[in-house]
Amino acid sequence: MISAPKGTKDVLPQDSYKWQYIEDVARKVAKDFNLKEIRTPVFEHTELFLRGVGDTTDIVNKEMYTFKDKGDRSITLKPEGTAGVARAYIENGLSNGPLPVKMYYIIPAFRYERPQAGRLREFHQFGIEVYGSPSPLADAEVISAAALFLDRLGIKKIKLNINSIGCKTCRAEYNAKLKEYLRPHLGEMCATCRERFDKNPLRILDCKEEGCKKITAGAPRMIDYLCDDCAAHFHEVQACLKAGGTEFNIDSNIVRGLDYYTKTVFEFVSEDIGAQGTVCGGGRYDGLIEELGGNPTPAVGFAVGLERLLLLMENTGSPFPADGGPGVFFAAMDDEGRRLAFSFAVKVRALGGSAECDKMGRSLKAQFKYADKIGAKYVVVLGESEIAAGKCSAKLMSDGSITELKFEDIPQFFA
Ligand code: ATP
Ligand code: MG
Repeated sequence: MISAPKGTKDVLPQDSYKWQYIEDVARKVAKDFNLKEIRTPVFEHTELFLRGVGDTTDIVNKEMYTFKDKGDRSITLKPEGTAGVARAYIENGLSNGPLPVKMYYIIPAFRYERPQAGRLREFHQFGIEVYGSPSPLADAEVISAAALFLDRLGIKKIKLNINSIGCKTCRAEYNAKLKEYLRPHLGEMCATCRERFDKNPLRILDCKEEGCKKITAGAPRMIDYLCDDCAAHFHEVQACLKAGGTEFNIDSNIVRGLDYYTKTVFEFVSEDIGAQGTVCGGGRYDGLIEELGGNPTPAVGFAVGLERLLLLMENTGSPFPADGGPGVFFAAMDDEGRRLAFSFAVKVRALGGSAECDKMGRSLKAQFKYADKIGAKYVVVLGESEIAAGKCSAKLMSDGSITELKFEDIPQFFA
C-alpha cells in the first residue's frame, strides 16, 4: 500500500465540513473588511522566496521544497503566502488602482519540518494583505480582522501579543546594543543562535531553547530603542486597538520569523494546543515590495495556520454547525420505485434542493436506517400503493410527523 507522504494529512469526507465552515467564516470576515481574494500559483521561482522571505530565516535555510523543473529552473512550493501576493501585486500593477489594496488568500503551504502536533509539511493558511497605507489604522484593522475571525469561530481563550521591531534605522542601533549584551553569553547559547548573532541578532529573541530564553530574558528591549516615528506609530496602533475594543499585551520578545517585518509585529497565541501555540502571526513589512523590485509600498498582513486553528477549536470544544444531510431520501421497494425515486431526486436537485435515493439495492428497512445515518431530513417511500395512487407521505425524521404529498407537488416541496 502506498501511504501519504510524511507530514501531510488527508481531510476525510466526514471531517471536511469543519474545514468548509472555517473557510466560510474566513471569507465572510474578508468580505466584511472589503478584502478581495487573490490566488497566486502554488509554486514560484525560488529566487522570490530568497528575496521575499529572507535568507537568514528558518524557512529559506532549512524548510523549502525546492526542485529543478524539466527546464532546469529552480522552483519552490510556496512556504507562505505573502511573497507570492507581493510579486503578483507588482507584476500586475495593482498599485495603479485605488489604495489601499486589500486582499486575502486561503492556501496550502509547504515546509520541510519535523512533523508534530500543529506542525506539518503541507499545511493551510488564511491570510490577509493590505498594501499602500502607512497608517497605524491599517495595522489595527488587520489585527482586528484576525480578532474578529477568531471570535466568530467561538475561540475565547487566546491572547493577542504585540510588539514593534522598529525600522532599518532604529533597529540597527538596537542590534548593536543587543549584540553588546549577548556577546559575553555566546558560549552558552545554541548553535543556531550563535549563527544568528552576526546575521540577524534580533531573531535570537525568538529562540525556544531554554538556555537561550534565560539569557534573552534580561536583554535590552527593542521598544525602548524605537525612533520617534516608530514609537509614535506603535503608540497609535495601541490607541486604535483600544478604540476598537481589542485587548492585547505587549510582548517585547516577539520578532516574527520572517526578515521583511518592520514596526508592528503580533501573534495570537493559545495555551491549549501544546508547544506550537502560535495560531496567527502577522505584522507590517514596509520594505518587502521594494525588496522585490516594486515602488516603496507600505504593507501589513497576517497568516493564520488553519490546522492549528482546527486543533484549538477541537481541544476547547468550539462549536461546529452540524454537517447537514440531504433534504430528502426517496426510498423504494422495487426497480420501478427506484427509477421513480431517481427521477424525483433529479427534479428536486434541479430546483436547488438536495436529495438522495438508493443505489445499493437495500431493503426498505435498510434504506430507512441508511437515511437516518446520513441525516436525511425527510424520507419518502415510493411503494406499489403510492405509485398506484400517485401520492405519498413524507416523514420528517426529527419527530416522525407526516406530510401527505401528491407526486406533482414533490419537487417543489423539497426544493
Ligand atoms: P512557528 O514559530 O510555529 O514555526 P512560524 O513563525 O514559522 O511559526 P509563520 O511563518 O508566521 O509561522 O506562519 C503563520 C502561521 O502558520 C503560524 O502561526 C502557524 O499557525 C502556521 N504554521 C507555520 N508553519 C506551520 C507548519 N509547519 N505546520 C502547520 N502550521 C504552520
Ligand atoms: Mg516555523
